[in-house]
Amino acid sequence: MRRLVYLPFQPAPAGLQCDRVSVQSIAEVVGTPAYVYSARAIRSAFAGIDTAFAEYPHAIHYALKANSTLALLRLLRSLGGRVDANSWGEIQVAQRAGFDPADMVFTGVGKTRDELAAAIAAGVGTINAESAGELDRLASMAAQLGRVARVAVRVNPDIDARSHPNISTGLKSNKFGVPIQEARAIYADRRSVSSLKFVGVHVHIGSQITSAEPLARAARVLVSLARDLCTDGFALEHVDLGGGLGIAYEGRPLLTPQEYAAAVLPELRQVNIPVVLEPGRAIVGHAGALISRVVDVKRFPDGRQFAVLDAGMTELMRPALYGSFHRIVPVVPRSGDESAWDIVGPICESSDVFARDRSLPELRVDDLVAVLDTGAYGAVMASNYNRRFLAPEVLVDDDRFEIIRRRQTLDDVLALES
Ligand SMILES: *Cc1c(COP(=O)(O)O)cnc(C)c1O
Repeated sequence: MRRLVYLPFQPAPAGLQCDRVSVQSIAEVVGTPAYVYSARAIRSAFAGIDTAFAEYPHAIHYALKANSTLALLRLLRSLGGRVDANSWGEIQVAQRAGFDPADMVFTGVGKTRDELAAAIAAGVGTINAESAGELDRLASMAAQLGRVARVAVRVNPDIDARSHPNISTGLKSNKFGVPIQEARAIYADRRSVSSLKFVGVHVHIGSQITSAEPLARAARVLVSLARDLCTDGFALEHVDLGGGLGIAYEGRPLLTPQEYAAAVLPELRQVNIPVVLEPGRAIVGHAGALISRVVDVKRFPDGRQFAVLDAGMTELMRPALYGSFHRIVPVVPRSGDESAWDIVGPICESSDVFARDRSLPELRVDDLVAVLDTGAYGAVMASNYNRRFLAPEVLVDDDRFEIIRRRQTLDDVLALES
């Protein structure tokens, strides 16, 4: 019994729709490029994971780094989501969205002293320490502040997530976590440190993981550590399996939340401690599309044809960064035969390419296209390179839409400069 993923962007007679709103009507109001998100898709993805783990005590700590626009965070909070933050900035944004620091986990491979002190003072629920050195800094800072830091250790299980090398984090060649073999001793050596309370264990082996096996292995390794730590007398409150659940960028069904849960729940039952999940992409990835307009069409003598968009790597960096695939669809497809198109951005970088040899109906200047499945690691990775201004973001809810971030202006950008 596969629960189908809700995909919000669907063709309709009058052109592409997001839920019940015409994408063209949004572009007319906010201009292009623009990010459009579906609230229904976020609710549905959250519910999919929540339901898959319904029979086991769990908490969903949404990974803010996938997309942390305030309105989306408020929506996730209303659904019962909690927070996985990767910087003090994300913690502060989550607080503005109404989250209690006690409901946050704070991970990050290079937390500064200032970030650690601020997190302790704010009462962050769990600080996932990346090294023995970081634990010791936490201990002394917490002591100075007269506080007890609630901590877990992020372990590196040396497991290949079989995802893209740039988003695999659980191999011993990666910079993340402490070697699994050393973890038990790291806890044991600090058992009597009164300014630390060890509340959990943590692993996160990568992102866009599309098979259950590495996730199950990571769970097994982490549960085994948690059992050892219980034997050693630690009163752990949770086992944190991190995020990483992949989504179907190519439209073919991949690992579902049910399959993920079925793979890790038997492991978790060996220790019977609540699980913390940190999904990011799986919650917002399908919910968003980048809407862009064709600004030029070029045909070269060798037959290659380019559609140049008003969005590029400044709005969506994933293709340039990882060569990642996104489906691209015309908002109002022209009739006639399809042909091969290179879909490129306007930036002066040869990596500023969204797709090569993509079979699409004819594209003309001023046509609108949608780059799909860009809700995660899209808007958050945008930059002002080439003095381009950040695109607006729009949240659709059923038959209505709301601008949740306006387009950046010259004054916004220059406000920081003398
Ligand atoms: C990035 C990250 C996540 C979220 O990863 P997704 O692949 O988006 O689910 C979760 N936990 C940690 C520690 C991360 O760094």
